[in-house]
Amino acid sequence: MNKIKQLLKNFISIFYPRSCVACGNALMQNESHFCLSCLMHLPETNYHLMEHSPLDYIFEGRVSVEKVASMLFYKKGNKVQHILHALKYKGNKEVGRFLGELYGRQLLKSMYYQSVDCIVPIPLHPKKFRMRGYNQSEWIAMGLSRSMNIPYFTDVLYRSEFTETQTKKSRFNRWENVKSVFATADVGKLKGKHVLLCDDVLTTGATMEAAITQLLKIEGVRVSVVTLACAN
Ligand SMILES: [Zn+2]
Repeated sequence: MNKIKQLLKNFISIFYPRSCVACGNALMQNESHFCLSCLMHLPETNYHLMEHSPLDYIFEGRVSVEKVASMLFYKKGNKVQHILHALKYKGNKEVGRFLGELYGRQLLKSMYYQSVDCIVPIPLHPKKFRMRGYNQSEWIAMGLSRSMNIPYFTDVLYRSEFTETQTKKSRFNRWENVKSVFATADVGKLKGKHVLLCDDVLTTGATMEAAITQLLKIEGVRVSVVTLACAN
């Protein structure tokens, strides 16, 4: 049966060659999502291991957070931009889970993330969810959950209203725009827990700040943050 499966796979790959998410080169049979070269040279931040990383100051004076880290450096035109594009706009949700799982394994080696109890992905508004068909942050959470061996919850934090695309707005406007968008339900699940909030990319942190603010209203909750990428 496995032989037939493999033959079929090879046959399919003649017509639909799989390619590396980061560089576009064709993948070898034993590679998934990334070619070996891209996988070996992902621009990792290693912020999860640092006592003071630049990201630890991003929420200073705004909201109380335990630890903030991103897996990769994002720069306009770099390979991480291709990865994020594939994850968000090309339907490649599996790459989110793949990188989440990879990152989860690294986070287990960080003293800051070992006490995390559960994972909560930043939710998409239902309208956007329907357009995209999936929430990319949820797929990252799935990967993290798998390697960290802790649950992820998608029903505790949700969006309460629609916000338009934020890329062209100033930081203040963005904050005005997002501060009331999150709501919580079934909060008993998170009571007293160290929650790992995850998303695909960290920029100004306005969305994240709104989500953290909402989660901190739950009794005894502490929040740490991870994203797949942050600006270099
Ligand atoms: Zn590659």
